[in-house]
Amino acid sequence: MQLQEMSWPAVGAVSKDMPIVVPIAAVEQHGPHLPVFTDSMLLGEVVRRAAEPLRDRVVWTPLLWLGNSHHHIDFAGTLSAAPRTYLDLLGDLIDNLITHGFRRVVLVNGHGGNIVPSQQAVFEARQRYRQRDDLLLLAATYWLLGGKPHQVDPTLKQDRMQHACEWETSMILHLAPNLVGDVSQLEPVPAGVAFDPATRGWITKERSPLGYIGDPRRASALKGQTLFGVFAQDLVTFLERVIAWDGRSWEG
Ligand SMILES: [Zn+2]
Repeated sequence: MQLQEMSWPAVGAVSKDMPIVVPIAAVEQHGPHLPVFTDSMLLGEVVRRAAEPLRDRVVWTPLLWLGNSHHHIDFAGTLSAAPRTYLDLLGDLIDNLITHGFRRVVLVNGHGGNIVPSQQAVFEARQRYRQRDDLLLLAATYWLLGGKPHQVDPTLKQDRMQHACEWETSMILHLAPNLVGDVSQLEPVPAGVAFDPATRGWITKERSPLGYIGDPRRASALKGQTLFGVFAQDLVTFLERVIAWDGRSWEG
């Protein structure tokens, strides 16, 4: 079910044990070869595919295209809410949904910069509603749900998400090849290990002058098809766990 297509009485009548899913993405530079709407397009497609088998067992809100992309702000076209603003924005959305009675709220994320804020938003919301014992507040990122696309298609060299990389370029090639620029001159930019396992604060331009990390030249539309298949199935499997939750248990 799509929230945007429903009247307020229809939303009011929905079982509040039904998961409500908020897709959260971004508008930010994706190298010289991909559109700035890449993360929103990719998450939109993963959600579109997942919504088909889930049908009327899940309510989807409209995709939130404004994300936390301040690390990309040096590149033209990036639109970003500052990290604290974004955290408050997600917190307000969760409050809205709880006000309307929903008990299973899922933030499904499609952008690296949103991972920490979305986790923090559900953590803080749980503290705000600590007297409740019927809430399930979750944050999940579509490429971190367990799928291993490189095992499904061994021609995929990349084994984790990078930026405007083999994976993302492949998915846009599948979705909208007309929006993909020339990648033939783009030398691979390694992700590096920085000060692993510590987390280093970073801005994109210190890692990649052109704004991509990975090897876009390895992309193909066929790989994109595989990636979407893996990620959509992962999201369906995950949301079925949310649907099957017994309403109280820690396990799920
Ligand atoms: Zn991206």
